[in-house]
Amino acid sequence: MNIFSFIAHFDSEETCRNHFKAERDKIGVNCKRCAHTSHYWIKSKWSYECKKCRSRTSLRSGTIMQSSNLSFLVWYKTMFLLTTTKKGFSSKEIQNQLGLKRYEPVWAMVHKLRKAMGNRDARYTLEGMIEMDEGYFTVEASEIEKNKGVRGRGAAGKSNVAIMAESTVLEDINTGKAQRQCGFFKAKVLENHKAEGINQTIQESIKDTSIVFTDKSTSYIDIADFVELHYTEKSDKQTTIETLKSVHITISNAKRNLPGNYHKIKGKYLQLYLNEFVYKLNRRYFEDKLFDRLVIANITGL
Ligand SMILES: [Zn+2]
Repeated sequence: MNIFSFIAHFDSEETCRNHFKAERDKIGVNCKRCAHTSHYWIKSKWSYECKKCRSRTSLRSGTIMQSSNLSFLVWYKTMFLLTTTKKGFSSKEIQNQLGLKRYEPVWAMVHKLRKAMGNRDARYTLEGMIEMDEGYFTVEASEIEKNKGVRGRGAAGKSNVAIMAESTVLEDINTGKAQRQCGFFKAKVLENHKAEGINQTIQESIKDTSIVFTDKSTSYIDIADFVELHYTEKSDKQTTIETLKSVHITISNAKRNLPGNYHKIKGKYLQLYLNEFVYKLNRRYFEDKLFDRLVIANITGL
């Protein structure tokens, strides 16, 4: 969807609401009290009423918009902005574009959308051949860290992120050249650089029938316990252009994208920015369908 078709489609609060309701009806509503799935629609209240227990669910309730005072139109414009470019927008830019007075509600809205993107992707577990490596991302040091004056690896100002990619090597029939085909990606901020954090990430993100490729870092010592096979290769130029090519490209793209868009990233919010980056990466072939998918993530991503 480009800006002209967006404006033509979503010209008022009512259009957005009706669109949201139509999308929510397609997915279905679960009663909060009794989990029943059949409801009446009470137009005057913009609410569903459970046919079994009569409990009411507003159109926003149960979606990521549930506690927001911002209009559907503002949410829709924001979802459009977030999905319309590869690059992304900061909350400050969105506030300016939308001409809103207060920054905080915009910031909260954008972070909720990023959280929903992460929750949506968390439903999928990686499988097959997986490349994995870690990247160090620059983040703003917290006040405590600044006061301590900690320096060095794993200290203030750096956050460690595990990047994983489904990657299959296919041979071209005509040329015999090996080509890499990538599927889904995941990026997870690690609490520490030790095996414990890696083990947890592997179990949460990758199916146990997978084959995992990494370098020889000591934090990867237990990976074989959680997957079918674990191959390690010494980290050098060759692994960068071959075995771990996809994750290395993704790490450098993310490192360029994030600071380019957002002025300063606090360590505790890094995962949210990565959610958005990976969500779009995983839907790189969706093109104009990306906006529609984000509306669905809004409904189901709480
Ligand atoms: Zn009910």
